[in-house]
Amino acid sequence: MRIGIVGAGILGLAVARRMAREGAEVTVLEKESRVAAHQTGHNSGVVHAGIYYQPGSLKATLCREGVAMLREYCAEHGLPYDEVGKLVVASTRAELPGLRRIAERARENGVPGVAELDAIGLREIEPYAAGVAAVHSPHTAITDFAAVARRLAADVAEAGGSVRLSHPVRAIRQTTDGVLVAAGRQRFAFDRLISCAGLGTDRVADLAGAGGDVRIVPFRGEYYRLAGPAAGLVRGLIYPVPDPRYPFLGVHLTRRIDGEVLAGPNAVPALALEGYSWGRASLRDLRGILSWPGTGKMAAEHWRTGVREVYGSLVKRAFTAAVRRYVPALTSADLVRTGSGVRAQAVTRDGRLLDDFAIDVRGRIVLVRNAPSPAATSSLAIARHIALTVPLTS
Ligand SMILES: Cc1cc2nc3c(=O)[nH]c(=O)nc-3n(C[C@H](O)[C@H](O)[C@H](O)COP(=O)(O)OP(=O)(O)OC[C@H]3O[C@@H](n4cnc5c(N)ncnc54)[C@H](O)[C@@H]3O)c2cc1C
Repeated sequence: MRIGIVGAGILGLAVARRMAREGAEVTVLEKESRVAAHQTGHNSGVVHAGIYYQPGSLKATLCREGVAMLREYCAEHGLPYDEVGKLVVASTRAELPGLRRIAERARENGVPGVAELDAIGLREIEPYAAGVAAVHSPHTAITDFAAVARRLAADVAEAGGSVRLSHPVRAIRQTTDGVLVAAGRQRFAFDRLISCAGLGTDRVADLAGAGGDVRIVPFRGEYYRLAGPAAGLVRGLIYPVPDPRYPFLGVHLTRRIDGEVLAGPNAVPALALEGYSWGRASLRDLRGILSWPGTGKMAAEHWRTGVREVYGSLVKRAFTAAVRRYVPALTSADLVRTGSGVRAQAVTRDGRLLDDFAIDVRGRIVLVRNAPSPAATSSLAIARHIALTVPLTS
């Protein structure tokens, strides 16, 4: 069985490793000159414990399985993995019902060690945090997903597979007995093709003649870092109570594996699929994004939130105020702008943000259509799930 995989992010590489170990002849095609060049190398580095997700959803089950697999993988390969713990903080009494729902959901999802804390209890965990109550998840961890991806690529090579960098997939043709792919200057013949193309998902789907009911709308998440001694004000991870309507919204504080503390990410519309700043716009990408009926419907419904997020992106004072809600000792001078990441978020035709992971099978082609957070956490479990979807016999 010859399997082609589009994308050398954490997902494509996890799938490639799995398939190569099951005896397939695996080729990963990546357009960039390095692995983990997009979402995998531009995220918060949090190994989510599975607190928030709808019980029974792919996110909930694959996140829990993925955490266990990732913890073991990191231990086996000497990769960083630190259970710094997460506090979800209610900053007003009005947020208490939402916080209680989070605690219930965490229990339903089988997240271990979750505790409900009052204002005093939360300060024992995070002495500089402010709030009326919190949920504590002691096993939520941090890692370096780009390092995990590099290790997965090495595993693929060791199992006899190949990772071809600087090989953008340009054409795909499904025939009765295989899939023909043109990438870079080469042509490949596979028995199966699996697309894990992140922000490039729709382009790959279009090449395969597999337009779907969802399209990727890119949302940029911008980060500040806490400068100097301010980093000492945060021990682990401090999160707001999430708004169920906007799963990825709400600036949080995240300790990274290198000791830095990040504030962010926010969520602003990106002006290109790989629009890492306001200055990076692409007319071609924008045409694609704006011509999708779901984009306009989503904008009409959520424009107030959008305006608030854009204001926070352009006006540092607003961003600082959002962070100070949780750690009041921080000042604007403590926040220094640093990188950003762009989320590949699938939006339905009727303007809904698709919440769950979505995987579509079209004959010999498997397309990952939606793999937002916690897909990095869940990557090894998603790979197992896909391996079950793609039987290794023709
Ligand atoms: C700001 C931000 C914060 C996040 N925080 C977390 C977190 O803390 N924890 C967590 O679990 N998840 C987090 N996520 C989500 C996580 O990063 C992603 O779910 C995960 O990285 C998806 O991996 P991927 O391999 O699907 O995508 P990517 O890493 O984006 O990889 C896709 C690859 O496909 C390649 N590609 C695209 N088109 C083509 C083509 N035509 N030919 C060849 N190659 C192509 C791209 O170059 C890219 O390398 C975050 C994401 C963002 C953006």
